[in-house]
Amino acid sequence: MKQEKQRDLAMTSGAPQKRRLTILGSTGSIGTNTLDVIDQLGGRDAFEIAAVTGNGNIDLLAEQAKATGAELAVTASERHYESLKSALAGTGIEVAAGRSGLIEAAERNADWVMAAIVGTAGLAPTLAAAKRGADIALANKECLVSAGDLFVRAVAEGGGRLIPVDSEHSAIFQSLEDDQRHAVERIVLTASGGPFRTWSREQMAGVTAEIARAHPNWSMGLKISIGSASMFNKALEMIEAKHLFNVAPSQIEVVVHPQSIIHSMVGYTDGSVIAQLGCPDMRTAIGYALTYPMRTKLNVDRLDFAKLARLDFEAPDEVRFPALRLARTAMERGGLQGAVMNAAEEVAFEAFVSGRIGFLDMADIAEAVMDRMTAVAPAVSMDDVFAADSEARARAAEAIAEKEKAAGAAA
Ligand code: NAD
Ligand code: MG
Repeated sequence: MKQEKQRDLAMTSGAPQKRRLTILGSTGSIGTNTLDVIDQLGGRDAFEIAAVTGNGNIDLLAEQAKATGAELAVTASERHYESLKSALAGTGIEVAAGRSGLIEAAERNADWVMAAIVGTAGLAPTLAAAKRGADIALANKECLVSAGDLFVRAVAEGGGRLIPVDSEHSAIFQSLEDDQRHAVERIVLTASGGPFRTWSREQMAGVTAEIARAHPNWSMGLKISIGSASMFNKALEMIEAKHLFNVAPSQIEVVVHPQSIIHSMVGYTDGSVIAQLGCPDMRTAIGYALTYPMRTKLNVDRLDFAKLARLDFEAPDEVRFPALRLARTAMERGGLQGAVMNAAEEVAFEAFVSGRIGFLDMADIAEAVMDRMTAVAPAVSMDDVFAADSEARARAAEAIAEKEKAAGAAA
């Protein structure tokens, strides 16, 4: 990596060249923060935007496409194609929709692609960008949880770099000493503990999505906010860390740190621990992914240590937050268990948000589906990943229907 840094420094000393960027999921929380960082770093004077993509928020997507001068705007939703087309009529911006539109966006010749679509929907487009050699700024952790080493290999074969955006993984990436990988003893992921950090399971049993989405420190999309409350997000991040940093599951620790100031840490064999700290603001990690290996100047809040006064730590509770245990099970079993866990939880999350199941049922569903699908063979190709994902979704839907039936019978 050191040589890479030198090479990149040499490259930046010539005439400035505009980098071409694509933002998959530009209308979301990470997407809008990414556009803010791009603006801060010079906007259209410094960058060309190849493509932006969204889903149902057509007004915002059209506004972003016009403001950035994007070549292509894509809605994932076929039924919104016409409204996106009319919103961009006369601008010269190309418009596409659906899965093929997302692939088209990913395949545009951008040097750097922000992967910020939520969920497994982000896997195919991110993979398409990786295969053609783009640098991937990875917010979509589901790519690594579901496809694991296959995804890492696709990036390596494409020749681009994989730069983490998740704040914990960005912190680890920043705390890893390039030539000391052999001396890494452990990776310590910090977790805020979410809004229910001190709640009992009885208290959590009755919460609604509105209550669960209120994160104490971070402002994020719905899925990851609920995932922070159940600590399912941390479960995904453990698996993400395993693949990103090529460490054994036993080297991955989680510590609850309610202030979210230390974003994560790396422990070395000499007892040293190197951490990355900052205010909880995703723009720091996004900026780092955009300008890596250089640091840049960003207009984000600075830490005031005297005001902060203290940093707290607690052991995570795997009984109240079983998702952490499920992540360990998935890593131990290996193969496609990550894909199975992630898909089952996505379906359970939708059922929770629509009020069909309770908050604690989400982990039960994921566990039941994982236990039913232990026999899945290791993935040889991406088709195996997509097949395991589909089967896990079908089984999760069955498990949810069973829960609803049981709840109906009990009522
Ligand atoms: P979000 O819900 O705010 O935005 C998601 C984006 O994906 C939007 O642009 C939306 O239009 C698009 N999208 C939704 N469904 C889609 C579909 N079926 N097909 C294609 N596009 C679709 O989510 P977010 O919080 O920005 O999170 C995005 C990703 O980044 C997730 O994988 C999340 O885990 C990860 N992440 C987010 C944060 C954060 O602070 N928000 C932090 C770390 C990691
Ligand atoms: Mg995170």
